[in-house]
Amino acid sequence: MPDILVIGGGFAGVWAAASAVRALREAGACHHSVTLVTPGEDLVLRPRLYEAAPHTMKVPLDRVLGPVGVGRVAATVTGIDTAGRRVTATDPVGRELRLPYRRLILACGSRLTRPALPGADLLFDVDDIDAATALDTHLHGLPRGPVAPGRFTALVVGSGFTGLETATELVGRLRAIAAPLGAAAEVRVVLVERAPVLAPGLGPGPRPVIVEALERLGVETRRATSLERVTPDAATLSDGAVLPTRTVVWTGGVVAAPLTALVPGARDPIGRLEVDEFLRVPGVPGVYAAGDTAAARADPDHLVLPSCQYAIPLGKHAGHNAATSLTGRAPAPFRPAPHVTTLDLGEAGAVSTTGWERTVRLTGAEAKTLKRTLTAQWIRPPLDDAEELLRQADPAFRTRRTTPS
Ligand SMILES: Cc1cc2nc3c(=O)[nH]c(=O)nc-3n(C[C@H](O)[C@H](O)[C@H](O)COP(=O)(O)OP(=O)(O)OC[C@H]3O[C@@H](n4cnc5c(N)ncnc54)[C@H](O)[C@@H]3O)c2cc1C
Repeated sequence: MPDILVIGGGFAGVWAAASAVRALREAGACHHSVTLVTPGEDLVLRPRLYEAAPHTMKVPLDRVLGPVGVGRVAATVTGIDTAGRRVTATDPVGRELRLPYRRLILACGSRLTRPALPGADLLFDVDDIDAATALDTHLHGLPRGPVAPGRFTALVVGSGFTGLETATELVGRLRAIAAPLGAAAEVRVVLVERAPVLAPGLGPGPRPVIVEALERLGVETRRATSLERVTPDAATLSDGAVLPTRTVVWTGGVVAAPLTALVPGARDPIGRLEVDEFLRVPGVPGVYAAGDTAAARADPDHLVLPSCQYAIPLGKHAGHNAATSLTGRAPAPFRPAPHVTTLDLGEAGAVSTTGWERTVRLTGAEAKTLKRTLTAQWIRPPLDDAEELLRQADPAFRTRRTTPS
């Protein structure tokens, strides 16, 4: 029986498993086992899926967790019996597995909300590696399609974090694809936002920098407008405009993964489980939640956001605390680093903010360098290096200047 079973091989699950091993070793309790169950073989670097070549944005789980002895079960969890302390899962060949546990860490992440509008099945997104790869393949296929209006037009729906990063990055991605045909001038990116202001969730602090970047890149914006209908070669907007395009990317926000609903407990409006300061799910003995499944408190006034910035330390705390509950050592209350945000703005640089009011601290090339460091280095766990993994798995470990965002 796995003593600690982690569901999910994303940032929260990986760091939960590593941190649990670390805490067990520290307590001399290596006889307790840690197992991670997830359908894929890789940790997907979701924050990079808006970039070109999204199929490369992953690291093999066995090269991260193998060296510290975490067992991996390739399966999709379908049931959680918290009273009987076991989960059921289906492996890649359809066999049903029963996995008992003493401590369970739920780290099954989040997923994009999808609209119910005509043509919704034609929407692209960058929520997971398959969807992002499908978009990339589609973009690279555009030059082989009919020469018609809107061939190199992309419509991005939603100007939240993902929508902004996708729209600004698509300018360069589409130009690189159109340029060999002498069609770079045909590239058009349109960003549609339902709210009356752009980047409504990011607040007024970084908005001027964002607006200037969109203008500099030539991204057209439509505020107080929503998507009504999609066909293979056009999108209809709520203001009646019909935009010729073959590429509509939906970025409508995330909710907790459906599995979260199988654990009893109070939830926030996006389905995340409420947890205490040790990331235990109140009233459900032995169960912890981490990452995008956990509505943990960042401070007395704010819940964490579904982001890597929080998924990584949430994972470390959940793993540590699940392990210490077996060894009798002290658990670590979740006290994350101050809130920061670093938003990529494509060839217009980036913007980095601090605090919940999002005071701009870096812009342009300096912010871009920080963003590249975050996404190319800091969010990648060490490979084939047990010692370094366990060093970083300490809940008290802080990445260089700050934790990623
Ligand atoms: C395009 C994009 C850009 C982003 N940019 C940023 C950014 O700049 N900064 C930032 O901080 N955050 C960013 N995020 C958010 C960040 O990626 C997520 O918050 C983070 O990945 C959450 O980590 P997680 O481990 O909780 O969940 P995930 O990374 O979603 O991992 C969940 C894991 O659970 C597994 N799983 C799901 N269901 C089951 C099941 N039934 N059985 C077994 N396993 C299951 C999945 O396969 C996966 O391995 C971005 C996200 C996207 C999509």
